[in-house]
Amino acid sequence: MFYDEKMDFTSYSEELERLAGLYDNVDLEVVGSSVEGRDIYRAHIHGDGAPVLVTAGHHGNEPAGPMAALNYIREAGENGSTLDITMYPMVNPDGYEADQRENAHGVDLNRDYGFFKEPETLALIGSIDREDYIAALDMHEAPRSTKGFYVYESTPIREDIHLGQTAVDAVGEKHPISWGVVRRDRPGCFRDFWASRDAYAVTFEPPGTFEIVDRIDMELRALHASLDLLEETTADGSWDTYVASGDYVVAAP
Ligand SMILES: [Zn+2]
Repeated sequence: MFYDEKMDFTSYSEELERLAGLYDNVDLEVVGSSVEGRDIYRAHIHGDGAPVLVTAGHHGNEPAGPMAALNYIREAGENGSTLDITMYPMVNPDGYEADQRENAHGVDLNRDYGFFKEPETLALIGSIDREDYIAALDMHEAPRSTKGFYVYESTPIREDIHLGQTAVDAVGEKHPISWGVVRRDRPGCFRDFWASRDAYAVTFEPPGTFEIVDRIDMELRALHASLDLLEETTADGSWDTYVASGDYVVAAP
């Protein structure tokens, strides 16, 4: 089955638990609670390959990411994964239920990295159990955008492995593209936090005015293309210096 529309948080949690129960290579853990007491989940998709971090739902009014995450967990459960994926499928469950960008304190969680004042970001960072993620992929949406898909990239740039462009190209095979790859500094955001820790950090941004089934498809295409490239380029097992050779570059779009 394909999850093609937003479901409420209770149904979403039940589906996560059900999937985790079905697949041996998927572990699910509650790592904390939101302001209003909703569970914050971490799914671990086990693989022998390089470690990658994937997040969705930092902004509650951007439901395509959490739905894409659910689809991805089901696929990876069925097909297995080479990469070792740590996934936080819904970082902001209160915002998701209220259909608002911020958490229940009215705080934009994607400006709380490095500060960690909110229970949701604290739950995430407090449950990070390895230091060597080669990439951090964060699924967002641009709620008012009418144009097309784009990505933000904050990264120790490696010109030979262009993750953001690869994601854009994969989405562009079926959907409209707007700005393509945008490089932008944003203090306190998840992407810059991980980029400063030598992870290749990309944010996916489907246009929020499109049908949700298409936005979920965009997230999944971007995710697949990114993970495939990461798997391919770390197949020799030497991922400890994967991005360390690049300089951290931030430029205006
Ligand atoms: Zn967002």
